[in-house]
Amino acid sequence: MTADLSALYQDIILDHYRAKHHAGLREPYDVAVTHVNPSCGDELVLRLSRDGDRIADVGYEAVGCSISQASTSVMTDLVIGGTTQTALELYDGFLAMLEGQGRVDLDEETYGDAIAFNGVAQFPARVKCAMLGWAALRDAIVRTEKAGETHE
Ligand code: ZN
Repeated sequence: MTADLSALYQDIILDHYRAKHHAGLREPYDVAVTHVNPSCGDELVLRLSRDGDRIADVGYEAVGCSISQASTSVMTDLVIGGTTQTALELYDGFLAMLEGQGRVDLDEETYGDAIAFNGVAQFPARVKCAMLGWAALRDAIVRTEKAGETHE
């Protein structure tokens, strides 16, 4: 990665950290989950509101490092309004990039600002920071699917 690109990515992350998209805990919601990343001190409460197979809203309250909070902000931009299936596919791709140690690139058109986390792949200790919001979302999707089954 060139120094210029690295600086651009840093700016994208700081922009999301300073002005988080979709932050806040809103009503109504179907499930709330709390995820923590003890190694860094990141904490996240996330609420998922579904409309059938679609994600109607994702709200959250987060404390912790800029990477964890910015990544959660970017995640909400990508998944709100889409299907849960698409969100889980985005999760898989984002995780593969973070664990790819720089060998896996994200498609910019699909991932938007999430490509800014490319540099995090070089720092295994920060992967959990970047995945915190995504892991919470995945957990919330799985829980709402289980809840749906018991109601049928
Ligand atoms: Zn962190």
